[in-house]
Amino acid sequence: MNELLSQVRVVLINTSHPGNIGAVARAMKNMGVSSLYLVEPHEFPAAEATARASGADDLLAAATVVDTLEAAIADCALVVGASARLRTIPWPVLDPRACAARMLSVAASGKVALVMGRERSGLSNAELEHCHYLVHIPSNPEYTSLNLAAATQVLVYELRMAVLAQGDSPQLAQQPEHPLATAGELDGLYAHFEETLTALGFLDPQNPRQLMRRLRRMFNRTGLDQMEVNILRGILTAAQNGGKKKTRD
Ligand code: SAH
Repeated sequence: MNELLSQVRVVLINTSHPGNIGAVARAMKNMGVSSLYLVEPHEFPAAEATARASGADDLLAAATVVDTLEAAIADCALVVGASARLRTIPWPVLDPRACAARMLSVAASGKVALVMGRERSGLSNAELEHCHYLVHIPSNPEYTSLNLAAATQVLVYELRMAVLAQGDSPQLAQQPEHPLATAGELDGLYAHFEETLTALGFLDPQNPRQLMRRLRRMFNRTGLDQMEVNILRGILTAAQNGGKKKTRD
């Protein structure tokens, strides 16, 4: 299997129809992507999923079922959510080709996740906040929503095309100085911010407005590495300690 594609994970949230899970597995295997995570599927394992997967039932057998999106993406350095709608909250949006390029560049040094929403209601705003980017397939504006497996097919096809375009001599990915922070590490940072800003009186839990959402969006845009997360957490800890220098005694 291609090394970069082996870093790609497809995450399905709360899928209602097991047939769609099978069809997604087939779409993935056709394009050389094999890691499938299922967040609280309504029905799985299921005969219909296996039937629709056809020869890709090995992906279903190896699929990881988890309770939360956080658990599905904790170790990922890049999380992209697929959205059929342009959202009320502005969030950075990529088209499928740009999404593939971005995912492959991060895949050179870490795991990357493509998160697919529910058949009926897509992704919630809380789920969206876990994503560095959204990817939108530029469909007919009068009828934007593709079937879950069809949308997955388009996105993993672009990943495959991007890998093939690199040919036999992939550009040597520049090794980053420090690995990118994972979604789990970023969650820790945001929780630390929330706690510190509340203690400082900057964030009013009764009236939080959009502060945490805006901070998440800002940091997601920068692509923090692990060292930078440590620095920010060190600053927050210093602020929590009232700016007093720790004395060693
Ligand atoms: N009715 C839902 C769409 C559900 S389609 C809504 O309005 O949000 C199921 C999933 O397929 C979506 O959550 C999304 O992850 C993916 N999808 C469908 N159409 C898409 C599109 N045009 N671009 C990107 N993802 C799409």
